[in-house]
Amino acid sequence: MAEEQQHITSSGKGSTGDNNNESKGNKKYTSPFSQFNISSTDVLDTIEKARCPDCNRNVRYFCNRCLKLVNCPEGAVPQLKLPIKLDVIKHEQERDGKSTALHAKILASDDVEVYSWKDMPKYENVDRLLLLFPSPGAKQLSEIDPESFDKLVVIDGTWEQANKMSKSDSPLLRMKRVTIAPHETLFWRHQRKASDHLATIEAIYFFLRDTTTKVITPHKEWIDSHQLGPYTNQFDDMLWFYKYFYELIQKTYRERTDGREFTLKHTKGYIQYDPVDERKQQ
Ligand SMILES: [Zn+2]
Repeated sequence: MAEEQQHITSSGKGSTGDNNNESKGNKKYTSPFSQFNISSTDVLDTIEKARCPDCNRNVRYFCNRCLKLVNCPEGAVPQLKLPIKLDVIKHEQERDGKSTALHAKILASDDVEVYSWKDMPKYENVDRLLLLFPSPGAKQLSEIDPESFDKLVVIDGTWEQANKMSKSDSPLLRMKRVTIAPHETLFWRHQRKASDHLATIEAIYFFLRDTTTKVITPHKEWIDSHQLGPYTNQFDDMLWFYKYFYELIQKTYRERTDGREFTLKHTKGYIQYDPVDERKQQ
């Protein structure tokens, strides 16, 4: 979640996996997602745009206003059960189509609620909420008493918007801050300056991974039916849409012949093109 952009290189530099190698001309591509156990997204290639039954907008996959799947066959999209309830607080100016946090609602609909900042709930027990935000004083989950909180809150917006929201006079200011551990072995290690520069869905994903190494006041039914302990990929599908959109744009880029490179604008979790040699960072 930062303003700057960094390169995903076309040479494989910055990628860590060995699978999914493809090449076109002298360019090699390794999917940074090959290290995850993400369900096949092939079905998404077959889904046509359709009218959202609730708001009648023409959308593909899901309506980012009504936060529901649209025209997706039953069972086509993974549905996850989370160990903790999650509220997403969205900056009004963050364009819905670029919000990766909305993926969490679509993929774990029972456990995630989305609010605009203006309509943020009037939380009664603010001190029992964890705000996933990398600020001074934020602790890692392993340093927080698991009995001391009931719910996770994330802010969705550009880094600037999120920073402003986190400092404003609102309940966000009084929530306990949690941050994720640096994930240096993972694919963005060459692409990110720090672990706090993640798309919102990535940060949520890593928080969820952290929950498996420590019991954190989970839903009773969840703890009964899942084994807590070493991470066994149970949350990898939180990156399902993210991976799909990422690779779709990668593919488009690889098929281009005009030599333009592309960058991941991780503030919004999507990728955009930049002229070659602009903002080279390695
Ligand atoms: Zn709709």
